[in-house]
Amino acid sequence: MVRMMWEDAFSEIPRSIPRIVWSMDRCPTPMACKKCLEICPQAVFMLITVKNQKFVETDVNEPGAYAMHPLFRDKCVGCLDCVRACPAGAINIAFEGEGD
Ligand code: SF4
Ligand code: SF4
Repeated sequence: MVRMMWEDAFSEIPRSIPRIVWSMDRCPTPMACKKCLEICPQAVFMLITVKNQKFVETDVNEPGAYAMHPLFRDKCVGCLDCVRACPAGAINIAFEGEGD
């Protein structure tokens, strides 16, 4: 009963999902870094293998072989830890009402 009331109370709060843009131009080898993925408290990011070859290990240093995807951006709490941790300025986060 208490749990139901807690969930009901929070489901009433409107919460916008931020727009998270990752730049491959600025981050061509995300598998070699992964700082954003490791620091995010909400596990928003997922590394995707773009270049798949049968029986061949994908080179972590090959530009464009991997991509960082903000798959669970609906879980983002807007702490901006990923933006601060990124050495390349490759992550841009915008919240509702901010200019696109
Ligand atoms: S702002 Fe915070 S919660 Fe959102 S993706 Fe970045 S590190 Fe994760
Ligand atoms: S922290 Fe920046 S440079 Fe490192 S993987 Fe994430 S987006 Fe790429």
